[in-house]
Amino acid sequence: MTIFQKIIDGEIPCSRLYEDDRCLAFKDIQPQAPFHALVIPKKPVEMIAKADEADEALCGHLLRVAAKVAKDAGYEAFRLVMNNGEAAGQSVMHLHVHVLAGRDMTWPPG
Ligand code: AMP
Repeated sequence: MTIFQKIIDGEIPCSRLYEDDRCLAFKDIQPQAPFHALVIPKKPVEMIAKADEADEALCGHLLRVAAKVAKDAGYEAFRLVMNNGEAAGQSVMHLHVHVLAGRDMTWPPG
């Protein structure tokens, strides 16, 4: 079981920003920007590459919630990141959208 599943199940606390029947948004424990949130589906999808056609609406919902938590925190500019696979930096194998804001972002990302 992943740490995010434990957060969904309430076994591990989180700093919750938003929740509905399909997803949960909370602050990242190791923030990489002044505002760093994670949006995760309650359904245990491992990574975006494992999402199937039936998950399309859910994936769109995660993106809309990501934009909402940034806006609710007062940010117009933000960056969304999804790491897919270990080589891309994914450390928790439960799909999540990073929401980063509050500082200038560089491009290309590292
Ligand atoms: P990734 O490396 O893309 O898989 O992102 C996983 C993120 O989860 C990292 O930014 C971690 O800091 C974050 N994280 C890990 N454990 C927790 C936790 N218990 N609460 C909040 N964020 C966490």
